[in-house]
Amino acid sequence: MSGNSNVTEEVDAVVIGAGFAGLGMNRRLRDEMGLSVRVFEAGNDVGGTWYWNRYPGARCDSESFLYCLTFDKQLMQDWEWSGKYPEQPEILRYLGHVADRYNLRSNMTFNTRVTSAHWSDLTNRWTVGTDQGDSVSCKWLVTGIGCLSSTQKPKITGQDSFSGPSYHTGEWPHEGVDFTGKRVGIIGTGSSGIQSIPVIAEQAKHLFVFQRTPNYSVPARHGTVTKESLDEVKKQYDDIMAKARASAVGMHYEQSGQSALEVSEEERNATYERGWEEGGAKFLFGSFNDIGSDIRANDTASDFIRKKIREIVKDPAVASKLSPVDHPFGSKRPLIDTNYFDTYNRDNVTLVDIRSAPIQEITPTGIRTADGEYEFDVLVYATGFDAMTGTYNKMDIRGHDGLALKDVWAAGPLTYLGVSTAGFPNLFMITGPGSPSVLSNMPVSIEQHVEWISGVIECMQKDDLATFEADEQAQTDWVAHVNELASTTLFMQADSWYLGANIPGKPRVFMPYVGGVGAYRQKCDEVAAAGYVGFHLGKESISA
Ligand code: NAP
Repeated sequence: MSGNSNVTEEVDAVVIGAGFAGLGMNRRLRDEMGLSVRVFEAGNDVGGTWYWNRYPGARCDSESFLYCLTFDKQLMQDWEWSGKYPEQPEILRYLGHVADRYNLRSNMTFNTRVTSAHWSDLTNRWTVGTDQGDSVSCKWLVTGIGCLSSTQKPKITGQDSFSGPSYHTGEWPHEGVDFTGKRVGIIGTGSSGIQSIPVIAEQAKHLFVFQRTPNYSVPARHGTVTKESLDEVKKQYDDIMAKARASAVGMHYEQSGQSALEVSEEERNATYERGWEEGGAKFLFGSFNDIGSDIRANDTASDFIRKKIREIVKDPAVASKLSPVDHPFGSKRPLIDTNYFDTYNRDNVTLVDIRSAPIQEITPTGIRTADGEYEFDVLVYATGFDAMTGTYNKMDIRGHDGLALKDVWAAGPLTYLGVSTAGFPNLFMITGPGSPSVLSNMPVSIEQHVEWISGVIECMQKDDLATFEADEQAQTDWVAHVNELASTTLFMQADSWYLGANIPGKPRVFMPYVGGVGAYRQKCDEVAAAGYVGFHLGKESISA
């Protein structure tokens, strides 16, 4: 059937990745739909993002009870989160529990990276190749590869000469790193940097933070959750998740309906103050509705945070360097932290502004910048990821006539609904570019795709269809819609990874869909209800 004599296995579906997406998709296709499924995972166990990102302080910014799979209500009742925000070890334990509970590892192949996937128009099947020599033939190929899974380590002169150990936050050693008595240098002050800096500072002898762009951050107000509060959530879980699914960002908070510009300065500051005290997403979503779209409204929030930085950080020169001025609040991923700005009051922490005095080289003993030399024993790269497309481009994915996905996406990713791309039949991308994905609470978006993709596959089985493929025009219209929506927001005013701006040479295209999780779900549901309008359904089954 595969037409390839080297094929080592034939299955209905191959799923790439064993994080939230791979676990959810495997469960759905294998256990609920009875398909044969092979899952490939590069790590040696399940966990995805949370398998790799084990850096000190790593945790999720979604509240724990929202950061879960919902396909089994009993699982939601049984699992007891301990932190307000789930910490990396706890999320990994949770995903391990999900894998155990539904025996999801039994058809997973670990320590194996998918390197190629080639479509055959003759057989209407994919042949999936791995770095371990597997060659698996499947009808459906589903990627659950995450949006932030290709680490970005900038090329810096002399970096190989550094004599101490160096680590990327996204590929952290499983045994952990002991910084006791060490001088540490860290490059990067994004989410991973602001989470790890306070924790490393507590342990290290000295920490040098190499900051290129200061970021806005609000306090997370992290803590433990009580059994009583979790029990209360569990009583209302259906309601909470229904709200999350219909919301803008996959969380259940009520979004404020008020403009920051229609209230007095006093009232506005009181609202921000409440958000600051409550912490986390409440600051952004519970305050005003135009912070993300109107620069005058945004200025009020940005000014408030800069004022807070000046209040917290004792040295005015350091406070000034930590204050973002080149982009509006929220135009890069909004950050929430625990003691981040306070950390710069410690005697053992030095902020090095590499915007005004750039790094010239990494030396065997540290970093030389335009204004001095900084010596340390351990180097941490908190420098981010080649987001959303990086992992796709690393695989040799070929559709009709050997067409390579990375060529089709050379000027930016092209998808219809962020889940499918023209020229690549029966390929489904969970939280692909052009879907809400990274602008949302990921498990909510992941499960929506799992459900939608399995709906397509059920329909193909019912009607004995061979192929399912995005229409070029529908795709062009969708990409235009995604760009148009983004252009009305302040997201376009920052050099962010959402736009690919962190990767030299990457096309500047806003990749996620900003229209909101609820609106997006509705669109996907309408497309399905209308018989998958905008997709070509190949009627000729090879089994016919
Ligand atoms: P990031 O947001 O892309 O931040 C990378 C940092 O490294 C930035 O400060 C960047 O500076 C700096 N950098 C990159 N290249 C550099 C160079 N050549 N020289 C000097 N500095 C350089 O990456 P991240 O912190 O790993 O976060 C990525 C995303 O992962 C987040 O936005 C979030 O979506 C997700 N994440 C989430 C959590 C959470 O839920 N709490 C935690 C970690 C990560 P510039 O700003 O100047 O480019």
